[in-house]
Amino acid sequence: MGLIVQKFGGTSVATPEKIHAACRKAIAAQERGNQVVVVVSAMGDTTDDLIELAQKVCQYNAIQTIPPKREMDQLLVTGEQVTIALMAMGIHAQGHQAISFTGGQIGLITDSVFSKARIQSINKQRIFEQLHAGKIVIIAGFQGITEDGDYTTLGRGGSNATLVAVGAVLKADVCENFTDVDGIYTADPRIVKNARKIDRISYDEMLELSGLGASVLQTRAVEFAKKYNVPLHVRNSAHDGEGTWIVAENPNMEHIVVSGAALKKDLTRVTLKGVPDRPGIAARVFGEIAAANIVVDDIIQNVMDDNTANVSFTVEHGELNDLKSVVEKLLKELGGNAKAAYQGDLSKVSVVGVGMRVHTGVAQRMFGALAGAGINIQNITTSEIKISCIIRKEDGPKALQLVHDAFELEKTR
Ligand code: ASP
Ligand code: MG
Repeated sequence: MGLIVQKFGGTSVATPEKIHAACRKAIAAQERGNQVVVVVSAMGDTTDDLIELAQKVCQYNAIQTIPPKREMDQLLVTGEQVTIALMAMGIHAQGHQAISFTGGQIGLITDSVFSKARIQSINKQRIFEQLHAGKIVIIAGFQGITEDGDYTTLGRGGSNATLVAVGAVLKADVCENFTDVDGIYTADPRIVKNARKIDRISYDEMLELSGLGASVLQTRAVEFAKKYNVPLHVRNSAHDGEGTWIVAENPNMEHIVVSGAALKKDLTRVTLKGVPDRPGIAARVFGEIAAANIVVDDIIQNVMDDNTANVSFTVEHGELNDLKSVVEKLLKELGGNAKAAYQGDLSKVSVVGVGMRVHTGVAQRMFGALAGAGINIQNITTSEIKISCIIRKEDGPKALQLVHDAFELEKTR
């Protein structure tokens, strides 16, 4: 007996049959004596299809324009709105009571950063009233509303952020993330055939993995889960088997040196050449980039003989349009001979594990595995619990398999 928040991703609600299967899971949880809240994504590839549609309309007279962000969110929120209504109808059809809410209807207030808004608050009152009335409450994932009443979205995969935020404000006993895979794997099983499902992993490891390309869970969702200490259970909607539990770290976890490996594709390295070597320049450059909400990584600065510096960093391809406009503006302001160069076709392979804090030799083993196959490492970054190498994109899948083998991640611990 408790409060469960379940989330069904796009593939788990892609057809009327799948919607009914999701409804059955929610009803079953309620029949076990729980109060049940369900967060849903848009059906199947709806979000991708809507984005494609927008791009088509934004091409006019052979010129492609970038869709205004506010209008893009206005469009994308419709995807989830379809699913919530259908889910509520499905539950009624199965003889139970449900009510659906958009983000706005439960006062899910965000800032006004369209396409990657952050949740500021949720009004739990309305949700609790309906739960107490015995209803299953269905909430649209991925969306919110600004103080001014504009629709916002929370970034791709943002239904997970909704799941965890709702779980946190309602103080749920568990957040169940139903998806089309059995859980979190030691590496992407589509690339590494012998990847193994992980039973338990800490918030910090999961945070690193999702930031490094493990796409099952959005980083922001894991941050929230950690902050509010909500256990997350990632599981397959196609069966009742246990998935992966993402929980607070416990002392046993340090016995495992590496928990998982990840590959982040489609990175571009940006190099700003001839930047004046003066205090405050880096703060200014990265301050402006951060103000545009662009995430950069792997920053390197080399000081040249002529009082200038070369500053390089990587961004995801998806950020490139936004970044280029910030960089052009910066270069003008910095004056002199500062120039920007872009190198695409990069990937990043990483290993993650809280055990790295207490075990040595992890870096050596990883570099050795890559070197053995003649893969050139272009740049290395580390944190307490991860090591990442930037490599050529074409080497990515092979590199992932090599590091997976090097740490024998296929073996159960
Ligand atoms: N429908 C949105 C997307 O595809 C949100 C989600 O699925 O979590 O990104
Ligand atoms: Mg989706």
